[in-house]
Amino acid sequence: MDSPILSIAIAKPPYDCFDYLSPKVNHPIVPGMRVQVPFGHSKRMGMVVAVKTDSDVPAGRMKPVDHFLDQHSILPEEILSLLWWASQYYHHPIGDVISTALPSALRKDREPLVKEIPMWRLTEAASSAILSPRAFRQQAILDLLLRYPDGASSHIMQELGFDWRGPLKTCVDKNWVDKFFTSPLTRNAHPLNPDYGINAHQTSAIESIKAGFGDFNVTLLDGVTGSGKTEVYLQLIQNVLEHNLQVLVMIPEIGLSPQLLSRFQQRFSVPITTMHSGMTDQERLNTWLLAQSGEAEIIIGTRSSIFCPFKSLGLILIDEEHDASFKQQSGFRYHARDLAVYRAKKLSIPVVLGTATPSLETRLNVERGRYHVASLPERAGVGSAPAIQLVDLRRQPVKQGLGLKVIEAIHETLAKSEQVLIFLNRRGYAPAIMCHQCGWSAGCHHCDAKMTYHHDDERLRCHHCGYETRLPTECPSCDSDALQRVGMGTQRLEQYVNTLFPGYKVARIDRDSTRRKGTFEDQLDAIHKGETQILVGTQMLAKGHHFPSMTLVVILDIDGSLISGDFRATERLAQQLVQVAGRAGRADKPGRVMIQTLQPEHPMLQQLFTQGYTKYSKMALQERQQAELPPYVAQTLLRAEANKRQLPVQFLEEAKRQLQQMGGQCLGPIPSLMERKAGVFRAQLLIETKNKAVMQQLLNHWVPSIGQLPSAKRVRWQLDVDPLDVI
Ligand code: ADP
Ligand code: ZN
Ligand code: ZN
Repeated sequence: MDSPILSIAIAKPPYDCFDYLSPKVNHPIVPGMRVQVPFGHSKRMGMVVAVKTDSDVPAGRMKPVDHFLDQHSILPEEILSLLWWASQYYHHPIGDVISTALPSALRKDREPLVKEIPMWRLTEAASSAILSPRAFRQQAILDLLLRYPDGASSHIMQELGFDWRGPLKTCVDKNWVDKFFTSPLTRNAHPLNPDYGINAHQTSAIESIKAGFGDFNVTLLDGVTGSGKTEVYLQLIQNVLEHNLQVLVMIPEIGLSPQLLSRFQQRFSVPITTMHSGMTDQERLNTWLLAQSGEAEIIIGTRSSIFCPFKSLGLILIDEEHDASFKQQSGFRYHARDLAVYRAKKLSIPVVLGTATPSLETRLNVERGRYHVASLPERAGVGSAPAIQLVDLRRQPVKQGLGLKVIEAIHETLAKSEQVLIFLNRRGYAPAIMCHQCGWSAGCHHCDAKMTYHHDDERLRCHHCGYETRLPTECPSCDSDALQRVGMGTQRLEQYVNTLFPGYKVARIDRDSTRRKGTFEDQLDAIHKGETQILVGTQMLAKGHHFPSMTLVVILDIDGSLISGDFRATERLAQQLVQVAGRAGRADKPGRVMIQTLQPEHPMLQQLFTQGYTKYSKMALQERQQAELPPYVAQTLLRAEANKRQLPVQFLEEAKRQLQQMGGQCLGPIPSLMERKAGVFRAQLLIETKNKAVMQQLLNHWVPSIGQLPSAKRVRWQLDVDPLDVI
């Protein structure tokens, strides 16, 4: 027999599939094996995706594979066919789809082996360590390890920001630091059951979901914050484990709090592994392999865990299903929730989507009878729903962004020894710097965006590309020294709050204050112990944290989202308000939420707070239907970017003509809302069809011809199917 022809997906640009000849090897050749192949003048890694007997490429022009990296498939057929489907649905090259799906260790030539994780911790001798004043790296290592009594992994060491391996070895040699290994599979020998019985709503939710086990179906678990959704998950998981099946729990990017993880660990004795960006390559590889072998029985992970292979998956749970972080926003722009539903269907297993604020997409699927719904309408155990008050900012004195009513309420709360959360979704000190004399403002050199002023190091930073400079002492345009900081970010708010409420401890939680690993946990800890009374923070705080004495939540500066041109902005704001409001009064003390706004009569706010999120979302769905917006129509964005302004629009105009010849409809092309980002000019074309099936037909027809356009060579273009951001 002739040697077979291998279709190889290349894991680097152009990410396409190419045919290669197979060398003679003494193992079977099957899809899912990694290979090294010659490509142009270089070598590339790729993956066998098909073994064929013929090819369109003449045999004389086909090159042989250099060698195999694997002797067995590392991607089960189930995953490979999921990836093929995703590649077709999102019209994204299979090579990049595979490369996105693989744990990064397998994207390199790492062997698929489970390894113990090296960790470091201080020895007793460390407390009497005498360092030379110049050994500041060793000092930094000892300081860091002091915060991790159970040991720190190499991922945690990364936060040191310097090459720590040499100095760490010195510390080990001096016997100040102990290196040890932990197994990636740990079990809790003493699982604990809750000290309460489940309530009637929980029971009926559990029973109705369990009735669908063993087959494909999707249930929306629609439960207000604090209604005991997690308890429902735990009971369902228990049931699945009893059938010797595995469970995948998907959570938003910042959703895996130590509290959530420990609730799972306390309850079960089976091995639980996690998969998220805060792990080393080897740790993520371990999780992937242990899920595949069936040794890990519960996997808790962020969006990419949807690609994890399982030996026998029995249930997929998606917590906070409405969260936008389930959609990847660059490269292969998949939606993990949507892929989960597809995968579950193929596997004939159930999916549970849990949230207090279902997305309109999911709500419509419920209305159309595609998804079941189970509701938990009340808070479980102690704690009642907070009282919500819309505070009209127009008719009262305002001090540095805080209205008098809010200031009074904060005083009252603090006087009762309770805690306050002030929510402002903008980090930094001030979102703009302007000259009072001439009107100049500090813009980014690389983006159409204002620079944000950061007070701690007196620098201006662009939150879109990361560019930063020093704060100028005088106006670069008129030389006056009348530069003013305009608007308010969390740093400025923290400063004001400190002066307004002297004698209380204020903590700020945002991406800047928690950049160092561990600080977030330390800050949360201080709140729990009551050492901190006022918390200022961004949406990092919105999810999953319980603060029993947090009885007042103040929400600032929502007016921008109420008037945004993005039709999803009000939906997102409504979700965020409900989530943040849910932080108030989770224990026996009643909670209170104050929302400051210039538009208290806005219909969204009125609906949301007089009738609740469900009623609001029904109204919002009607609006979408009337306006012919998703989820009632399907959308796809064709994005293009180039280093010259006119190129993306030219290309999109040509693509649009092609599309129209095929009978397709579109809006644009228009420059992106921020046309220039990180030095690149961006524009987009929005394609609309009456549903997803029609969209797929159109894209199947159109997409192959886009690449043939001469102007396509001068831009980088990409499709975003079912985009979440369209402006
Ligand atoms: P959610 O995930 O819906 O926000 P949780 O599952 O975190 O809610 O539950 C909120 C709180 O109520 C937790 O402290 C949990 O321990 C408690 N809880 C859950 N179910 C019950 C119940 N049936 N009886 C008493 N307390 C409960
Ligand atoms: Zn000026
Ligand atoms: Zn920038």
